[in-house]
Amino acid sequence: MDQLESWGRYPRVPARLFRPERMRDFHAGEGPSLARGLGRSYGDAALLTDGDVVLSERLDRCLEFNPETGVLRAEAGLSLDALIRAFVPQGWFVPVTPGTAFCTLGGCVAANVHGKNHHRDGSFRQGVTSLEMLTADGSVRDLTPADGDDFEFAFGGMGLTGMIREVELQLRPITTSMMMVRHSVAGNLPELMAQMDDEARDDQYSVAWVDLLARGERAGRGVLMTGHHAEINELPMRYAAHQETLLTDRPGRARPFPFEAPTWLLSPGNLRLFNSMYHKWQGRKGTFFTPLRTFFHPLDAIRNWNRMYGKPGFVQYQFVVPFESGREAVTEAISRLNAAQASSFLAVLKRMGASDGGPLSFPMPGYTLALDIPLREGVIDLLNNLDALVADHGGRVYLAKDSALRPDTFRRMYPEWERFVIHKRQ
Ligand SMILES: Cc1cc2nc3c(=O)[nH]c(=O)nc-3n(C[C@H](O)[C@H](O)[C@H](O)COP(=O)(O)OP(=O)(O)OC[C@H]3O[C@@H](n4cnc5c(N)ncnc54)[C@H](O)[C@@H]3O)c2cc1C
Repeated sequence: MDQLESWGRYPRVPARLFRPERMRDFHAGEGPSLARGLGRSYGDAALLTDGDVVLSERLDRCLEFNPETGVLRAEAGLSLDALIRAFVPQGWFVPVTPGTAFCTLGGCVAANVHGKNHHRDGSFRQGVTSLEMLTADGSVRDLTPADGDDFEFAFGGMGLTGMIREVELQLRPITTSMMMVRHSVAGNLPELMAQMDDEARDDQYSVAWVDLLARGERAGRGVLMTGHHAEINELPMRYAAHQETLLTDRPGRARPFPFEAPTWLLSPGNLRLFNSMYHKWQGRKGTFFTPLRTFFHPLDAIRNWNRMYGKPGFVQYQFVVPFESGREAVTEAISRLNAAQASSFLAVLKRMGASDGGPLSFPMPGYTLALDIPLREGVIDLLNNLDALVADHGGRVYLAKDSALRPDTFRRMYPEWERFVIHKRQ
């Protein structure tokens, strides 16, 4: 048996792994099975202790691409990283990307991932035109939106509706690989949320970094980061003069995080100092141009950055609460996190748009807060306490990141869970 963990390194479980080289071997074993992509979900979503975990990572071929329409059909193990390398130079980008490119198409469908453009463009579901899926009865089905629930329930279904073999995706045309970005600084949470809600400041992509360790009048201060794909005529002369290099993808060599960090490195004092400097540094940037990898996937520049939290690992906690009482809920959550001195510097807040996908899909209109919490005593109790707050406000936590949700709270957060179970049994 192998020891298996996902990105948060918690929990760590014994597992039987299969790594098929050909699509015909990508199927369930005798007993329970779960498909797994690159393990970039943080918690236990891609773990299974009493069955087979079937890895899709070697099933990563592009099968068909129409350069006129930008429709790509690929095996589900294709990573966004490989897709971006291949298609950005041809003027195409993914319609939705999470904060890492090291995830597979199958994983993006199963979690129905969202990106910085969710408030405008919705989730991964919006870009997918067709799926090939192997279901529990052994049949392979080509599914399109016309198949209703059979198609929709895969989005957010966390791999429980079947093994996704192929994904057909409508790519987004781009004319340069640069982003035009604007940073605006906010002195506290009400100011930050007011900036996020201000349509005049909005752009195609929008997210805010929030300082969860600042206290008093500065509690919840942050930096709103908005942007869009730069058009050639928006670029300064120094870029525009080199038109042949405009559509390039230069991810650079990811540097490894050099060691398992000791816990004192992330002490509240050190983090407060870091946050203070980050707030000043990012806030000063104003409007600028940056390569799309830097804008969308800054953490990918450090390989194994999850080692920063040391051997015990960490949890990434993400919830969404409806707009109606969203400000109140986010303010209360930040105050509880602040009192517990639990969070790290990686914390982001954003507005989400309409829901889509199946009953277990995470996004809903409202505010979403995502943050890393290093694992130590009391953290799971803190999460359960926050879960109750989120559920009381009609919100939910993101299953792709969770490892602590209790069954009764899950049912409150995802009230249509029974529809999902009935569908799965059929
Ligand atoms: C740095 C970082 C930033 C992130 N930012 C975001 C973000 O902004 N927005 C967001 O939504 N998420 C974000 N995530 C989470 C991540 O995008 C999702 O968890 C995604 O599902 C990971 O894809 P994966 O291929 O690694 O899937 P895995 O982690 O391997 O699996 C995730 C789920 O998908 C299922 N699955 C995987 N492949 C298949 C398949 N072929 N068929 C059926 N089921 C399958 C698994 O069973 C599991 O339930 C982030 C993660 C990291 C590490």
